[in-house]
Amino acid sequence: MKFKSAYLQGVYDTVSARNPGEPEFLQAVGEVLESFEPVVERRGDLVDAGIIDRIVEPERMITFRVSWVDDAGKVRVNRGFRVQFNSAIGPYKGGLRLHPTVNASVIKFLGFEQTFKNSLTGLPMGGAKGGSDFDPKGKSDGEIMRFCQSFMTELYRHIGPNTDVPAGDIGVGAREIGYLYGQYKRICNEFAGVLTGKGLSYGGSLARTEATGYGLCYFVEEMLDAVRQDSFAGKTVVISGSGNVAIYAAQKAAQLGAKVVAMSDSDGYVYDPAGINLDVVREIKEGRRGRIREYADAVPAAVYTQGCRGIWSIKCDIALPCATQNELDGDAAQTLIDNGVQVVAEGANMPSTPQAVEKFLAAGVLFGPAKAANAGGVAVSGLEMCQNSMRYSWTFEEVDAKLKGIMVGIFHNAYNASKEFGSEGNLVMGANIAGFLKVADAMKWQGVAY
Ligand code: NDP
Repeated sequence: MKFKSAYLQGVYDTVSARNPGEPEFLQAVGEVLESFEPVVERRGDLVDAGIIDRIVEPERMITFRVSWVDDAGKVRVNRGFRVQFNSAIGPYKGGLRLHPTVNASVIKFLGFEQTFKNSLTGLPMGGAKGGSDFDPKGKSDGEIMRFCQSFMTELYRHIGPNTDVPAGDIGVGAREIGYLYGQYKRICNEFAGVLTGKGLSYGGSLARTEATGYGLCYFVEEMLDAVRQDSFAGKTVVISGSGNVAIYAAQKAAQLGAKVVAMSDSDGYVYDPAGINLDVVREIKEGRRGRIREYADAVPAAVYTQGCRGIWSIKCDIALPCATQNELDGDAAQTLIDNGVQVVAEGANMPSTPQAVEKFLAAGVLFGPAKAANAGGVAVSGLEMCQNSMRYSWTFEEVDAKLKGIMVGIFHNAYNASKEFGSEGNLVMGANIAGFLKVADAMKWQGVAY
């Protein structure tokens, strides 16, 4: 990557040399550093304090063996990770991902992004991420439980309610959080708010399950209203994925008056011109962990297509990528633009490639980057931490209202930063700068130890 600023070029070259073979991490760092060109010009104090040199290097990276016994009695070994990226503004906070594609590069890209996202929420949370290359697909409940117990048997010594508070991500939902929490409590003999996404009967927050998808739609609604005096009402929406984020984005988009016509999983996508029946999707995905192709068996008017990337060829007003990183490339972006897409907002982390983002911005598409648009999940995780500290529970309506207020605030914070730093409406730049400045000032005041 090429930067105008020699200083930023030096930072990027050092990160590249120090992290060979980590393309996702370099992609995330490169994208953020690009946004910092105007910051470097105006904030020489942050350059002098070496803030950018420091912020691209994790405070701590933990890698560990996770051995467990499968149902056939065979010993299996996976690799576990926790990156504690930045603790300048609060305890480390970020999800755990269980997926065969997990490696150091993926975990570091996610932990790096999380630092800025958590800052944008306005809540006191540092950045972290973790997970394992364990594949939960096709595993029995017993196997999932034994894996989670083994994972926590190492992780427990690195986390704590005031140190690091993990949560869910791809492959980690209520079931996995329950097994992880049970093992933490068993080892530490302590009922502490050390994980978020917990079940409601043992310290979870109402609206956490819905938070990322709902928050994404609140962000889009505000963006449409503020920039185009428009709304979700009457819009056609395409959503990739059919997991936690996708399902609740689809639910809220429909509540706001839109029609969601397509959803997917890693095998393929369904197109239902009458509007996706979410009860059917939830029964397949949440009820029996099935595949999205089964939707077409239940709804004969729907069409299933093998291969998930084709979903972006469906004509829509609003596209919400909610599956995984780099799922929407430059060609897919061009197809969406040719088909008249007005809004793209990222429910997943880094789902659009840099080429796709460039095309959306050049075409004047309203683009909500992940750091800002999908921060609702971690925001409600922050609210779960608050409730745990108070030993108190807010109602669904209270949490939902706070979530909405946070998402509206994130949009304006990012928008105002984009304006202040000379690229009004470029929320990629705005979110990166707004998230960065708070962390940067905290790091500056705390001296050079971190
Ligand atoms: P889930 O595991 O609930 O769902 C993931 C969905 O994405 C599934 O439909 C899955 O299909 C699909 N998917 C996973 N990997 C791929 C792949 N390589 N190619 C295509 N599709 C894939 O995860 P979440 O909904 O929680 O997370 C989705 C995204 O949102 C991730 O990027 C995550 O980091 C991000 N995110 C999640 C938050 C949360 O609160 N859960 C908060 C902020 C961001 P299949 O079943 O076939 O694997």
